[in-house]
Amino acid sequence: MKKHTFLLLIIAFLLTACGQTKDIKSFEAMNTFMTVQAYGKNAKKAKQLIKQRIEVLEDFFSTTKINSDVYKLNNSQETETVVHPETFEILQFALKMANETSGALNPCLYNITSAWGFTTGSYRVPSQDEISFLLKRTDFNHLQMDQERSTVTLETGMQVDFGAVGKGYAGDQAIKILKEQGVKSAILDLGGNIQTLGTKPDGSEWKVGIKSPFGGRAVAGVKVCDKAVITSGGYERFFTADDGNSYIHIFDGKTGRPVKNEIASVTIICESGLYGDSLSTALFVMGTEKAVAYWKTHREFEFIIITIDEDLIYTKGLESKIQLLEDFESVTVIE
Ligand code: AMP
Ligand code: MG
Repeated sequence: MKKHTFLLLIIAFLLTACGQTKDIKSFEAMNTFMTVQAYGKNAKKAKQLIKQRIEVLEDFFSTTKINSDVYKLNNSQETETVVHPETFEILQFALKMANETSGALNPCLYNITSAWGFTTGSYRVPSQDEISFLLKRTDFNHLQMDQERSTVTLETGMQVDFGAVGKGYAGDQAIKILKEQGVKSAILDLGGNIQTLGTKPDGSEWKVGIKSPFGGRAVAGVKVCDKAVITSGGYERFFTADDGNSYIHIFDGKTGRPVKNEIASVTIICESGLYGDSLSTALFVMGTEKAVAYWKTHREFEFIIITIDEDLIYTKGLESKIQLLEDFESVTVIE
């Protein structure tokens, strides 16, 4: 055997032995761009399965696909509607979080976000009368669910949407598939929701960048393994109205208006994508003070808040994991 052929064989052997065969797949789903980067023998197969799985979830959760569960519910006009058990499970989880966050997370705001044009892109500022009328139809306690029959009944005019939690759930399902396929090392980017499996193939932690809410490069990095890093930011979707004000896509269910507080972005770091996704939205709505108080009574997740004045606030568990890449006005560690 020639010397270089022998060398190539050794390299190929080492790559397979370390399970470092890398495979990247990108696709569009849930109105966003998704990338799955996985290492190891079944990486390619896992990624194909993930894409198929997310497409199925989209068929349940989409607000616009005519046969989706969410579409059917939103057009059910008070009739009891049978939904897929997964749709039922997400809605149940979102309602539990709605109660736990005193309505900061509210999966029943779709009539309001639609009125502001976030669902179609035809943005407008509704009148206070219109908002007040719609707000009466957003009480998540008025939703009826029957677990045995997997049915949901909405009040007249009430509409649900999984925009704040669906991608997190999809990420958890993707991680599950990767594990089932024996993949030990992977990183997913589901429209800004980052989820990691294991460590990098070389055994070191993944470094996830935290985007500047003001545009441009990452302003911080956080080292994680087996964690979801989920960000909600006002910068992700907003419009500027004729009144000169900017209105973001995250809504305060108490006022029926886009949130306007000191927060520019909230990042949650925890195990479950679904939990992290629900919290990133909820803590954004709460504002810093309530978010800190909420964390102090829960503590099973970490957070990073960047304010519009460029203050950085993060929880103590991240102290050895976070790397600041830019100067902030102030840095506060919560313990
Ligand atoms: P996220 O990017 O995870 O913070 O989710 C924001 C999306 O969730 C929005 O685009 C809406 O579809 C929906 N949404 C907006 N405000 C809320 C809220 N307070 N609770 C639940 N969902 C919301
Ligand atoms: Mg969210």
